[in-house]
Amino acid sequence: MTLTTDLLSLFRIDSQVRGLRRRLDSASRYLDTQDLTLQELGQQHDEVQLRRRHLQATIGNLEGEVAVIDERLEKLRGELNVATTNKQYTAVLTELNTVKLSRSELEDRTLQEMETVEECGRQLETLAGETAERTKVRAIAKAKLKQRHEEVGTRLAELEQQRTTAAGCIPGTDLKLFDDLAEAYDGEAVTPVEEIDRRRREYVCGSCNLNLPFEAVTALMGRGDTLVVCAACGRILFLQDDTRGALAKK
Ligand SMILES: [Zn+2]
Repeated sequence: MTLTTDLLSLFRIDSQVRGLRRRLDSASRYLDTQDLTLQELGQQHDEVQLRRRHLQATIGNLEGEVAVIDERLEKLRGELNVATTNKQYTAVLTELNTVKLSRSELEDRTLQEMETVEECGRQLETLAGETAERTKVRAIAKAKLKQRHEEVGTRLAELEQQRTTAAGCIPGTDLKLFDDLAEAYDGEAVTPVEEIDRRRREYVCGSCNLNLPFEAVTALMGRGDTLVVCAACGRILFLQDDTRGALAKK
């Protein structure tokens, strides 16, 4: 086995590992999204509940103020009844009307706050409904992830074992190059050389289409113990069997 063929077998195993991991990751991300949504719903619920509690406290205070005003009104009505002069009567009546006006303002405010409390109640109901729905979706997402784990878990463990073995055949610096490229290109660390025109010796990188110098191709036809990379995208180049066969026939 040459370095290039060792790398190709690592690449094939690595691609399978990545494919299976992607399946697990997408299920796992879906579950995370549900968790996040539930968390947001919970926060909204807490906020509305807190707001309602504050409003209820405000209403309590307003009702207290109205009670104080009612006492004052009672007293003023009494004074009105015993007023002896016209001037006295008018003074008490004016105050009585002023106090009545502020009572009515307080009542209006109380009513407004009560309406907002009701609105909060409706919001809480809506949020509870959404939470119940989302909880069901989350349960499905969780079951799906479990199922995925069961489906691919064993195969993934096998492949990861194989990957470790395959990686063990490759010298450290070359393996690092492969891993870095795989990281950068979502697994696509290697790419075939593509033949454009054999007679004119035109070959390009299978990934980025850069024209490759013919020396790169001849180097790949050699013993395959050094890696050849594309000058533009940096991917490790290899010759597919038909390309290699055609070149060998020349
Ligand atoms: Zn390239």
